Amino acid sequence: MSWAHTPTLTQYLIEQRRRFPSATGDFNHLIIDVARACKAIARQVAYGALGRTTHAVTTSVNVQGEEQKPLDVISNECFMRLTEWGGYLAAMASEEMEEPYLIPDQYPRGHYLLLYDPLDGSSNIDVNVSVGSIFSVLKMPEGKEQPSVEDFLQPGIQQLAAGYAIYGPTTMLVLTVGQGVVGFTLDPDFGEFMLTHPNMRIPESTKEFAINASNARFWEPPVRRYVDECLKGKTGPRGKDFNMRWVASLVAETHRILTRGGVFLYPRDTKMPLKPGRLRLLYECNPIGMIVEQAGGRASTGYGPVLTVQPTELHQRIGFVFGSREEVELIEHYHNDPDAHVSDLPLFANRTLFRDV
Ligand code: MN
Ligand code: MN
Repeated sequence: MSWAHTPTLTQYLIEQRRRFPSATGDFNHLIIDVARACKAIARQVAYGALGRTTHAVTTSVNVQGEEQKPLDVISNECFMRLTEWGGYLAAMASEEMEEPYLIPDQYPRGHYLLLYDPLDGSSNIDVNVSVGSIFSVLKMPEGKEQPSVEDFLQPGIQQLAAGYAIYGPTTMLVLTVGQGVVGFTLDPDFGEFMLTHPNMRIPESTKEFAINASNARFWEPPVRRYVDECLKGKTGPRGKDFNMRWVASLVAETHRILTRGGVFLYPRDTKMPLKPGRLRLLYECNPIGMIVEQAGGRASTGYGPVLTVQPTELHQRIGFVFGSREEVELIEHYHNDPDAHVSDLPLFANRTLFRDV
């Protein structure tokens, strides 16, 4: 019965809280309800084309006659309905809602703000590839009564917690509260998230990169150069062969990189000059960025740390490069110093010793 000694998510949160005697428990309550939303979404996703509706959704505003809604909308409602009542949130913002959702008057208002992408990678649903949910927790600015959009526009370093759930062959919840990264696996027998990955770390170096190569003609020169050098392999400036991966699901890419290293790029490019990148800063890049940095990796815009970017809009997009620290540093180096060489970085200079060129 080794599982009897494996802590659940609830146990983990209670033990963390014991270290902060002044904590009210609101934060734990929030995370537990978010985890419950993720469990509901996991079930919903697992039904696939059979498309059943969960209780979480039918208890929302008078659903007359079970109309079929896209899974993005159902997942958004799971997050809303399962967290709005708890008294710990002031407001929430989602990829699926143009404006923030203020906690209605019937419930008490708390001091936290929740941002989320309820179903990430949803274009992959039909092909039965892993999808997920991403979330970020911020504190309401002091002295504010009525929450507004501006309250959500905080740089990523101010996040109190961030996490994602991945709905793959197993459902997992990966969480950081700023003390490293922990991973829980959903035990289908008990419906509990069990602590199976107590210390997730991203290896510092890698031989794997992930980028949508169909955009190559729109890439800026530093990105083109980085990928070219990877493709040149053993006989090129990097002195080693690389593999390429591309799932087109941010959560799935993150989970792979967190497990075995690698680097992911969705850089700013010239395809849509008005959109400086593809991924959303507040509910995709910032939470993933916090997890990556807490796991010893690096999260960047390509030019510098993503977590220090001052957001200007709720649904703002940005270039995003993250993963194994050495690779991301090299990519930043190429962006900031166009004449840079691989060997300018001490870490990479060492490697030349082992190359016979
Ligand atoms: Mn997404
Ligand atoms: Mn989404």
